[in-house]
Amino acid sequence: MDTQIETKCLHEGYQPKNGEARQLPIYQSTTFAYDSSDFMGALFDLEESGYFYTRLQNPTNDLAASKLAALEGGVAAMLTSSGQAANFFAVFNICEAGDHFISSSSIYGGTYNLFGVTMAKLGIECTFVDQELSLEELQKYVKPNTKCVFGETITNPTCTILDFEKFATFAHNNGVPLIIDNTFATPINCRPFEWGADIVTHSTTKYIDGQGVSVGGAIVDSGNFDWMAHKDKFPGLCTPDESYHGITYAEKFGKGAYITKATAQLMRDFGCIQSPQNAFYINLGLETLHVRMERHCENALKVAKFLESQDKVAWVHYAGLENDDYYELAQKYLKNGTCGVLCFAVKGNRDDAIRFMDSLELATIATHVADARTCLLHPASHTHRQLTDEQLEEAGISPDLIRFSVGLENADDLIADLQQALDKM
Ligand SMILES: *Cc1c(COP(=O)(O)O)cnc(C)c1O
Repeated sequence: MDTQIETKCLHEGYQPKNGEARQLPIYQSTTFAYDSSDFMGALFDLEESGYFYTRLQNPTNDLAASKLAALEGGVAAMLTSSGQAANFFAVFNICEAGDHFISSSSIYGGTYNLFGVTMAKLGIECTFVDQELSLEELQKYVKPNTKCVFGETITNPTCTILDFEKFATFAHNNGVPLIIDNTFATPINCRPFEWGADIVTHSTTKYIDGQGVSVGGAIVDSGNFDWMAHKDKFPGLCTPDESYHGITYAEKFGKGAYITKATAQLMRDFGCIQSPQNAFYINLGLETLHVRMERHCENALKVAKFLESQDKVAWVHYAGLENDDYYELAQKYLKNGTCGVLCFAVKGNRDDAIRFMDSLELATIATHVADARTCLLHPASHTHRQLTDEQLEEAGISPDLIRFSVGLENADDLIADLQQALDKM
């Protein structure tokens, strides 16, 4: 039955058969038992599908992942131990030493460091670009060895909106896939595949979990990118894998090739698997995601409007505000709302900002975002402190920016808290 996304949140993925547990079972098992040696051998050859070791795959994870794939409108998905692992795998699955890729510079600080520093050590070069550049300007950064383009739907922490159609055209003009980190929007508010993205990643640690209990990540494949049409660029998918008796993923697994390769090679070798217990929490989080996202957006808009009206506030960025620079793009790509995260600055110097943050009573200072409880941080002195001022500038983060993640409390209480902290300034 074709259903709406709210129904999918509850009914996709695990579907119990007669007499089985109503809720997704946690397969808390490292290994799986088989009757015959031949069958086990066939699993190792990828000739049969099934489970053999939880470092690669686990049924609880796969059922939660298949719900997420259904919500995103993709063909296959996998859960990873963190959002960092998801973004690393998403790129490393198609890039190897000597390759190059292009990423928007307006991305999460952890991803920026992963791409710019750690992947460089593996011989993979990333060029960061200003996502506001025109197609013609973006084209100047493409090299013969460019293998993918990366961006975030709603940028963390700057709260800008990516122009998907421009980025998808850019990637596809160059025969490479567009990878989108959809963490802040979640599939409730944006489904990047509908706008041309090929692969979506998530830090499930954020809204999908929603309660701040488990670190995790996910990769979803749309199945739309034609790897074989760009055979020379993607030998990992389009030529035989000697570690699996010469299987060619794109030929043998078709639309499932990308996720199968990431599971068979990257999970096998790196083992960044999400624990089945955490996958259970992810599944639980997905069930209520549509209700929570609506309230996060409603609350954030009220808070943004309040902040905008305050003399002691220097500026507010929230794409739900009609005068925001990204309002038009948000209306196009995120019709139902963006997310609960906004950013703003208070007037004055760094000490004033710190005094303001320390005066808040409900909103807590935390290295977390997109949670049921309102939290905030100051990227320049917290998450992004490893970046130079120049890099901060490049990522569009002004030193006074406060990232404010609006939770599910009563909005009037949050506003009262902000008011008393502003009054103390
Ligand atoms: C938090 C975050 C990540 C990293 O996720 P972890 O689960 O913390 O590893 C990646 N991308 C975005 C947009 C994030 O907010």
